[in-house]
Amino acid sequence: MLRISEVVSGLTGGWIGSDVTVRLGVTGLSRAGKTVFITSLVANLLDRGRMPQLLGAASGAVQAAYLQPQPDDTVPRFEYETHLAALTADQPHWPQSTRNVSQLRVSLKVQPTGLLGNLSGPRVVHLDIVDYPGEWLLDLGLLDKSYAQWSAGVLEGIRGRKCAAEFLAQDVNPAAAFDEVRAQELAAVYTTYLHAARAAGFSDCTPGRFLLPGEMEGSPVLTFAPIPQPDSPKRGSMWREMERRFEAYKKQVVQPFFRDHFAKIDRQVVLLDALGAIHRGPQAVEDMRRAMGDVLRAFRPGKVGFLASLFGVHRVERILFAATKADHLHHRQHPRLTAIITAMLRDARDRADFSGALTSAMSIAALRATVEETIEHDGKRLDCVRGTLLDSGKQAAFYPGELPDDPAKLLSPAREGAQNWLGEDYKIMSFAPAALHLKPGEGPPHIRLDKAAEFLIGDYLR
Ligand code: GDP
Repeated sequence: MLRISEVVSGLTGGWIGSDVTVRLGVTGLSRAGKTVFITSLVANLLDRGRMPQLLGAASGAVQAAYLQPQPDDTVPRFEYETHLAALTADQPHWPQSTRNVSQLRVSLKVQPTGLLGNLSGPRVVHLDIVDYPGEWLLDLGLLDKSYAQWSAGVLEGIRGRKCAAEFLAQDVNPAAAFDEVRAQELAAVYTTYLHAARAAGFSDCTPGRFLLPGEMEGSPVLTFAPIPQPDSPKRGSMWREMERRFEAYKKQVVQPFFRDHFAKIDRQVVLLDALGAIHRGPQAVEDMRRAMGDVLRAFRPGKVGFLASLFGVHRVERILFAATKADHLHHRQHPRLTAIITAMLRDARDRADFSGALTSAMSIAALRATVEETIEHDGKRLDCVRGTLLDSGKQAAFYPGELPDDPAKLLSPAREGAQNWLGEDYKIMSFAPAALHLKPGEGPPHIRLDKAAEFLIGDYLR
């Protein structure tokens, strides 16, 4: 006989009889590693035995894992099979990065352990993974800003940035009559600036949809730019129309994202290319630190209170900040990377006055592309990593340089003296994904992905 609770599955929003649905948000700025993270997480959940620190999987409580149709019919499906095929091809290559929101459902059959667990039968945990660009998350900060505040803030923030020179040199009369062609030119030059700013490692790149416009490309809602506020702008002026478009962007782009995706998330992982930022230097590190505060602010209960009351948001319960691509470093340095990201999180929590969700910070590699090697150089032993270079296909060993022993040296450069960490070698350390040979004793093909999964969903799998 079937119980109704066993038949009714696939509904979102928590426990339904013996089934439960957990929505896991995966975000991070472009190239942070979202696509690789999700592909590897799902592959390792489906093919268990390579996640020793995911306790439910290691203990055997997870009896089966399988893909199922996702609950949201209008959201694109995360292209798991295509991405996995890229990573496991004879000549493995990195998959196409996240460009949009997408979703995938993995269902796990779990036999709860312990005294009470043994009395109940197995239950199914539906893990709905929602992949979305971090650029869109940072857009939530626009919701409580007026066009005047946003424009002034952006123009102040980008002053002096080399990549903003062309935009800042634009001749614009905000009080003049609105001109569509001029608006398009300004939006285009501003978008070019945003791309250059992202490439330079800046994360304060709003509006995020300008970077990943999808089918909205060229629409009025994406055709505005920050301009100086004139004294008393008339109706029909450049300022007024841009202001109207900014408000439309908030209402028609940011709010639907909030309502349809963000407001439903239970658990969140924020991926950060912290090593890339450290390599780029103190300004990029400071920018990442600010972005972490902005992310936490977006998740702060109350901050989005008026939207929460409109859309019935529930609180995200756990947020993990994970520094990705840790396989660029020998494991001896991993504790330093973890210490840095932990200190950044502590600081971001303080700045955002954040409380509520459980937070954690880790350093991980969703897919290990290197092996470790210690070589002698000038009489010194150097802990290197060896991998296949993406450009040439040649194998090479690199010493990326040292991370500071104390995060304060990196995070308080004024006090400690600004310094660039990680050497020149780091720049060329662009590795191809390693072919997966999983011989006994070779260890898992990831670094602490299982620990990340344990923090994010482990409590559901026991
Ligand atoms: P997304 O834009 O956040 O979806 O980023 P991707 O997942 O596409 O990753 C961007 C790039 O980062 C990849 O093409 C790889 O070059 C690199 N990358 C991502 N994850 C890893 C990892 O675990 N190890 C290494 N070595 N490189 C990674």
